[in-house]
Amino acid sequence: MFSFLLFFVVEQFPFVEPRTLEASEHPFTRTLRNLKGIDKGQRVNGVGELKSYLKRFGYLTRNDNSANNNHFDQNVELALKRYQVFHNLRATGEVDAETIKRMGLPRCGVPDIITPKGLVIVANYTFFEGAPKWDESQRALSYTFASNAKELRMYDVSLAIGNAFQTWSRVSNFTFNEIPSAYNYNYNNQPNIVLGFYRRDHGDGHPFDGPGQVLAHTFAPQDGRLHFDVDEPWSTDQTGWNFGWGGNGGWGNWGWRRRWGPPRWQSRRNNIDLQTVALHEIGHALGLGHSRVPASIMYPSYEGIKRSLSQDDVDGIRALYGSSN
Ligand SMILES: [Zn+2]
Ligand SMILES: [Zn+2]
Repeated sequence: MFSFLLFFVVEQFPFVEPRTLEASEHPFTRTLRNLKGIDKGQRVNGVGELKSYLKRFGYLTRNDNSANNNHFDQNVELALKRYQVFHNLRATGEVDAETIKRMGLPRCGVPDIITPKGLVIVANYTFFEGAPKWDESQRALSYTFASNAKELRMYDVSLAIGNAFQTWSRVSNFTFNEIPSAYNYNYNNQPNIVLGFYRRDHGDGHPFDGPGQVLAHTFAPQDGRLHFDVDEPWSTDQTGWNFGWGGNGGWGNWGWRRRWGPPRWQSRRNNIDLQTVALHEIGHALGLGHSRVPASIMYPSYEGIKRSLSQDDVDGIRALYGSSN
């Protein structure tokens, strides 16, 4: 039955094969643990990696060209404080246990602070720099899939993504319509949003990082590109369990759990819920940035299934586009 459904998908539709995990924990968590308690002024192996992380997610200014050395200077300390403030942690400026835990969570690849201006951080929802959005005439948006993960059934992916779009539709004036395949649309009907699964460097200047850490990323309006990291254990099941995993390949739920230990961010299930991540990424596709509110879908880290919007998300979309009706 599974193979029938796979064959049902349009020929030449690109599937991306998953890869197995080898490390016992994410290497970055190991790096951070080695930096615990480090003092300002010290040079320790791994600080460069910490700087890269802080830079990548918007906490260290891009023109700080010392990102690759291991000097724990005041810029790193300040960037750590910004990170801690955004994530509601104590702003110690130190690599402490809470910070290590938070940085170890899988998360979205979009930076948290788009315009770094000292410690001025908004209290809740954010927009991209310049608040790009869809035009007033564009409230009926179309979307399509450019590729799928080999383990996922297109039917299930379409359902999960469709649910996520509907959730945003209910609190806004947007309607969303799936165009069945990227290979079927004609030039008069280009989809507004194109979703796909990709591995590592996939040609948009923002390479994925394999299993763990970055799960997905999306470009600001009206770009429309929404990408998932294929190397994550995606699930489309309503309970977070996907029966397609680990059937006849070397990859499976147990493999993830065994090799990585029981991850804190998946206390009940060890998969990543596609609908949850899609709901977050669609928020970006509509113009929302990351929120500091932990209950918000636009919070940057993934901590389990969350398939509804918080008041903060609704406030954000309405601030950008006005109320529905
Ligand atoms: Zn995000
Ligand atoms: Zn991408």
